[in-house]
Amino acid sequence: MGLSYLFISHGIQAVKYISDKIAVMYLGKIVEFARKEELFANPRHPYTKALLSAVPIPDPKLRNRERLILTGDLPSPSNPPKGCRFHTRCPVATERCSSINPELVQTSEDSLTACVLYEKNC
Ligand code: SF4
Repeated sequence: MGLSYLFISHGIQAVKYISDKIAVMYLGKIVEFARKEELFANPRHPYTKALLSAVPIPDPKLRNRERLILTGDLPSPSNPPKGCRFHTRCPVATERCSSINPELVQTSEDSLTACVLYEKNC
């Protein structure tokens, strides 16, 4: 029908159910954009990985699965940190991350990621 919806939610399972493509935002900035299947099968941005790791799975056999728990307080969106906005909580941040603001770069045919880990010549 040529119809598109922009669906915004904190409920990643609802987003998965309704969407074809997903943009993950952190402090008001898109950090990853991908087709749904690719995002869930191969998340690239460290925030996306943490987000998906926090999703409850209703299977007792997976109760003890390894989860990525973020530490530190969420900075204010009205005064985000300089550099990569996620660097104050990112488990793989380097010194460089506090001084550069990574742009979205193509990380596969169907995905874009804003992280120095995916910049060329990094
Ligand atoms: S740019 Fe650095 S701080 Fe930001 S997500 Fe990538 S590794 Fe983490």
